[in-house]
Amino acid sequence: MISKRMQTSLDNAVSIRDIFEEGKKLAKIYGKENIYDFSIGNPSVEPPAIVNETLKEILDTQDALSLHGYPSNVGHPEVRQCVANYLNDKYDMNYGEENIVMTSGAASAIALLCNTLLDYQDEVITFAPYFWEYKSYVETLYGVLVPALCDQKSLQPDEKTFREAFSEKTRIVLINTPNNPTGAVYTEESIKMVTDVLREMEKKYNHPIYLISDEPYRKLSYGIEIPYIPHYYDDTIIVYSFSKTLSIPGERVGYAALTPQMADCANVFAGLTASLRYMGYVNAPSLQQKMLLKCIDATVDVSIYEKNRDLLYNSLTDIGYECIHPDGAFYLFMRALEEDDWKFCQRAKEEKILMAPGKAFYGPGFVRISYCVPYKVVEDSIPAFKRLYDSYQVS
Ligand code: PLP
Repeated sequence: MISKRMQTSLDNAVSIRDIFEEGKKLAKIYGKENIYDFSIGNPSVEPPAIVNETLKEILDTQDALSLHGYPSNVGHPEVRQCVANYLNDKYDMNYGEENIVMTSGAASAIALLCNTLLDYQDEVITFAPYFWEYKSYVETLYGVLVPALCDQKSLQPDEKTFREAFSEKTRIVLINTPNNPTGAVYTEESIKMVTDVLREMEKKYNHPIYLISDEPYRKLSYGIEIPYIPHYYDDTIIVYSFSKTLSIPGERVGYAALTPQMADCANVFAGLTASLRYMGYVNAPSLQQKMLLKCIDATVDVSIYEKNRDLLYNSLTDIGYECIHPDGAFYLFMRALEEDDWKFCQRAKEEKILMAPGKAFYGPGFVRISYCVPYKVVEDSIPAFKRLYDSYQVS
């Protein structure tokens, strides 16, 4: 028998994986080329060649026992220094290896930080719509996720809802830009608003409130600057992942970068070190960490996603759909043609289009389209989107 807590969580889940699984069944019946599966965020662009070359070279040249042995929990020191150097060069920071913790992707970094920073029923504010797993990371560690609804037109953080979300129990504000599910990149104006309010709330409640910036899509932006948050707020922790930048989500590697000036920095580092053990992650995969020594600066060919974005956005808006222009990540957030976005997704399925309902991201009335698919899938899907649109004009 599983716990009541887990049973409730399973019963309430809106499973995007289920839609993905259904897509596979439909592909068997109608042929893969006739299903337009935009349900899930699995990278569709090849990893840069240097990734596999480096992995082979490491396997061929390095001592197997030390390569596959336990590194220190927070990661290989030379890898942490390499990450610090990269960030210092790129963003004019002063990180040292003592500020970098290697993690199994962004997911584990967020969970480890919740374990380190939250006491029972402490609160984490996040801007909605948000990546649905945030609720699981926070609630598994007995915290409470408090959504602050973004402005519904721009999908930028809204000052009023943000202010209203604070309480004595707020310990973390968790932001994600470029955003999953909306594709929005938070502007410098938004970041200044968020960090000004945070400073005010730290004074009001007289304790640190950490800003966790979840950035797996930082390098996936299209001609737009993404502010580097530690320049605006000292109590910032950057959570980064190579899952999307290098197209290696199955390899599980990322890091948390603690701003050297942040409150209680050394203690947070110690808490993360212990959490790696307590939560059973132990360390990020050793081989993948070593690969970063050569690949820290590599990136997938982002122009492939950009081409998909342009075709999809332009075609859908030409048809008459209302979409928020996505400046980053590989998601497009589109208004559903009926109030119930789940029903809209079901109806889209009749046209063999699979999308994720906005409800799953605390964004009801919208759907998320993941355009990390081959260009041909986007091209072929446009007539199906047109038929779907037309079907709503007559009914
Ligand atoms: N955060 C966001 C916003 C994501 O979209 C994802 C994955 O899709 C993650 C975190 C987790 O990524 P990782 O594979 O690095 O754990």
